[in-house]
Amino acid sequence: MDNILPAYDDPLFSILIIVILILIVAISSYVMGNIKEERKKKSLKHFLNRFNREKSGLEIEDMPFESRLIKPLKLLAFAFKSQGEYQKAINLNLYLIKNIANFQEKKEILEQLAETYLKAGFLKRAEEILLEILHKHARNKEALYSLNVVYELLHEYDKALEVITPLKLLGEETQYLEAHLKLNKLLNDKRLNHKEKVEKLVGLLENNFYDYRRIIKALFQLDLDSAWRNLNPSKVDSIIDVLWFLPLSNLNFDIISSDKILSAIFFAKGSLTLDEKPKEKLIKKSNIFVIDTIVSAKIGGNDNVDITFSYGCSRCKQHFPIAFTRCPQCYAIYAIQIKETIAKKRSQIGYSLL
Ligand SMILES: [Zn+2]
Repeated sequence: MDNILPAYDDPLFSILIIVILILIVAISSYVMGNIKEERKKKSLKHFLNRFNREKSGLEIEDMPFESRLIKPLKLLAFAFKSQGEYQKAINLNLYLIKNIANFQEKKEILEQLAETYLKAGFLKRAEEILLEILHKHARNKEALYSLNVVYELLHEYDKALEVITPLKLLGEETQYLEAHLKLNKLLNDKRLNHKEKVEKLVGLLENNFYDYRRIIKALFQLDLDSAWRNLNPSKVDSIIDVLWFLPLSNLNFDIISSDKILSAIFFAKGSLTLDEKPKEKLIKKSNIFVIDTIVSAKIGGNDNVDITFSYGCSRCKQHFPIAFTRCPQCYAIYAIQIKETIAKKRSQIGYSLL
């Protein structure tokens, strides 16, 4: 034995010890890694068993699984989700997760499943799956953003704000998201009285991270005087629809008459009547194309014109007939684009966006 092993004082002995230690560490981390992966799979299976499959008309339960099916089934699940066939998409995703062995691939489908639950309005299920994903991969930005949307839709603003911290740590720009959530929290805060809420909203108007449109819209609901006093005529293009649909009784003609843009808007609307001379001055004064066109038409004697509004998302480019604070399609914030179209006037009963 003495001939095989080097002597204690031989440098070769130290090298041999180091090599043995490296081998032990490598083998034990390989074994531990395998055990961990196996535990993950088991806990995921146990977790997903809680989500019962509802009937969707797809007979996939007894379908034998083959790995070549993964890609087409993933695409099919995505197509079902896009078409609003959420239960079919959910069942397909659950089938894939159950049968796929590769954990990384499984994670992608879990994300899809969470997104489908979110779209389908199963917010608590979406939350559970997103927390499960984050439990295993805490640095998953997409999951953090989706969780944020889920908490916002659940009106759990404190939890949504808590999600900001890991996003910040991951280097994300979160000022607008934070302002958006804080404004939601303020608008829904039942503990604040009317006056306190108005004061806080007015205080936020100077902060560029806060959405001017949402604040002014809320002020028009809470306190007309504050809304008119704090209205910034240079930003009316972002609230043109809110102004257009204000009931006649909510208008402040002193403020409207003192501003060219506001005068043009309410002259175009038909709420403001002016003498011939100031009328001429209104032409092309608002710099809002449809307003200037209607003003010109009215001065030319055509009173039969109105505006219809639609709303686009600057991120996903989808259009919607109603306004939004978060895009209903891609959940983007600060993405609303107001599109005004000149239309023939129809007799209508008073309608307000507030
Ligand atoms: Zn969008």
